[in-house]
Amino acid sequence: MAGLSLKNVTKRYGMLEVIHGANLEIADGEFVVFVGPSGCGKSTLLRMIAGLEDIVEGEIRIGGKVVNDAEPSDRGIAMVFQSYALYPHMTVGENLSFGLRMNGNPRVDTERRVRRAAEILQINELMQRRPKQLSGGQRQRVAIGRAIVREPQVFLFDEPLSNLDAELRVQMRVEISRLHKQLGTTMVYVTHDQTEAMTLADKIVVLRAGKIEQVGAPLDLYDDPANRFVAGFVGSPK
Ligand code: ADP
Ligand code: MG
Repeated sequence: MAGLSLKNVTKRYGMLEVIHGANLEIADGEFVVFVGPSGCGKSTLLRMIAGLEDIVEGEIRIGGKVVNDAEPSDRGIAMVFQSYALYPHMTVGENLSFGLRMNGNPRVDTERRVRRAAEILQINELMQRRPKQLSGGQRQRVAIGRAIVREPQVFLFDEPLSNLDAELRVQMRVEISRLHKQLGTTMVYVTHDQTEAMTLADKIVVLRAGKIEQVGAPLDLYDDPANRFVAGFVGSPK
């Protein structure tokens, strides 16, 4: 397990600066949710943590180690996206084990990890199916399973539930909360859904136009928002 720290993290696309010197400390095992309007930089910040975007200025540490120049696969992270990106021609079991096998992980250990993920997510009976034979919720479970088998130090989620219908969203939200309690792993979760943020987060990070506007526990932000913008995002009447 590992915490995370961002120091003066900055991102530019050409002339356009989209993250302006972000500072943030995330404790080991904490569930942190990034919220903010579309285009404010949530995904960019997450992708920088994942190593999918380079950093022009500043420093990202995972478990105390600077990872600015580390490959995504060397960061101890696993990311879950909104689109499931499952391999359509492979079974669920093969989807879970594929990445590990590609990395040369020993077969016995791969099988152990896949079994464990299947148990955690209760998808044992789906292992022989292909993605097109799964419901949306089941597909998203498999996508989360692909992150679990990597046994990461940090899970990164980018709006993982926004493709699901309302009922399923609630169900998967509960599931992700249970996963966090069970594994105790640090999780960084991007959403624009207020309920998800308020119910999942130990700590909410409110972003606005590439800047961190306020950081705090859900109820602290609700009771004492720094301004009306933050109040709007946590549903506070203030
Ligand atoms: P969010 O996830 O909060 O909706 P993003 O992190 O996707 O926001 O985007 C932040 C800003 O960066 C937006 O203004 C977006 O247009 C811009 N941006 C994102 N990716 C690129 C890119 N590859 N090239 C240029 N601009 C980008
Ligand atoms: Mg985004």
